Amino acid sequence: MQGRAFFDEDHLALLEGIEKFAEGVLAPRAAEIDETEVFPKELMQQIADIGLFGMKIPEEYGGLGLDTRSYALALEAVNRKNSAAGIIVSQANSLSTQAVVKFGTPEQKEAWLPGVADGSRVIAFGLTEPGAGSDNASMKAKAEKVDGGYIINAQKTFITAAPMADNCLLFAKTAPELGAKGISCFMIDMDMKGVSTGKPEKKMGCRGIPVSDLICEDVFVPEDRLIGEENKGFTAAMKTLSIARIGAAASALGIAQSAMDEAVKYTRERVQFGKPLYKHQGLSFMMADMEAKLRACRLLVYQAAYKADMGEEVNMDASVAKYLTTETACEIADKALQLHGGYGYVQEYPIERIYRDARFHRLGEGTSQIQQLIIGRELFK
Ligand SMILES: Cc1cc2nc3c(=O)[nH]c(=O)nc-3n(C[C@H](O)[C@H](O)[C@H](O)COP(=O)(O)OP(=O)(O)OC[C@H]3O[C@@H](n4cnc5c(N)ncnc54)[C@H](O)[C@@H]3O)c2cc1C
Repeated sequence: MQGRAFFDEDHLALLEGIEKFAEGVLAPRAAEIDETEVFPKELMQQIADIGLFGMKIPEEYGGLGLDTRSYALALEAVNRKNSAAGIIVSQANSLSTQAVVKFGTPEQKEAWLPGVADGSRVIAFGLTEPGAGSDNASMKAKAEKVDGGYIINAQKTFITAAPMADNCLLFAKTAPELGAKGISCFMIDMDMKGVSTGKPEKKMGCRGIPVSDLICEDVFVPEDRLIGEENKGFTAAMKTLSIARIGAAASALGIAQSAMDEAVKYTRERVQFGKPLYKHQGLSFMMADMEAKLRACRLLVYQAAYKADMGEEVNMDASVAKYLTTETACEIADKALQLHGGYGYVQEYPIERIYRDARFHRLGEGTSQIQQLIIGRELFK
């Protein structure tokens, strides 16, 4: 195994179990989910039953309380076989729960975490707005303090799983005059009066997990829905993002590996000019290049996860891993498609879907340019 030194026997045993599940249960459903854009309920339950939704949720709240290396290995294995499943697994473990794990009260943890771990609750993450994407701090969402709680008005956009969610972790300004320092974080219920979702977007890839607008019109949210301290929501979001970035990098790694798997398989089978494609040196060199880059990225992802587990600051490592792995995954998927010739451009072979799925990770959890911005900032800190 590449990067073996980063892992112990427990990690390897976990990986073996997840790889078996991914191959036997997730892989056969990947094309169907992409085609129908529906994530089957029973598959959600199977994912919950083996504990994948609760990997980063503490054991006392129904999760497995695993470390970041386990999480990275699991996301790599899941995404290698089914990237829609990868999206929902990563969301459950990072964006939708980590602010509650880190900043929630025991009552809040008890209220929301066990349901995510057992698959009965989906929590969305509402940060982006139509006019505030990379520049989250310029958000317009407002939460005005009233007796016993807050009144929230917000329009959030591109919210993963909003149409199927029970709750949303929503960010809104409680002190607009303070900019990024005036943002708070709330847990809203999707059935609260005044909460609605828009039409699911028609997406290029990672289909099956709907993405839509989320609108709050004069929504009353009781005080006990505030996560962490008032005006500290942006800090909370940023703290959960570095784990999410390692997750996004691990997801892209799995997708890149699946593109590589397809390239190897196809070039063995396809014969042109009297020999299999891989025996044409120009193509084997192209594949050597793909494999070399994939392996370099894998070590970056494992190292970032290892450092996070050692309690080290991982801002730089997480952004480097996310930036290079997501960019490389697209390059590898593009070359793998090229190796399929015209067959790569039609839906007969999985590479067409893999190519589309790979593209998302350069945008979510901070675009590539935002990762460059963070890396540059860290470099001159
Ligand atoms: C499928 C999908 C699912 C998503 N899920 C969620 C979710 O669950 N929750 C959520 O809150 N958000 C979600 N998002 C939103 C996502 O995080 C944003 O799309 C992303 O942060 C970029 O914001 P934007 O689309 O407004 O682009 P913009 O911020 O407008 O950026 C446009 C371009 O400019 C670049 N750019 C912007 N600022 C700079 C700068 N300072 N320097 C250099 N380049 C810059 C960007 O990299 C990009 O290339 C999702 C998006 C997609 C597509």
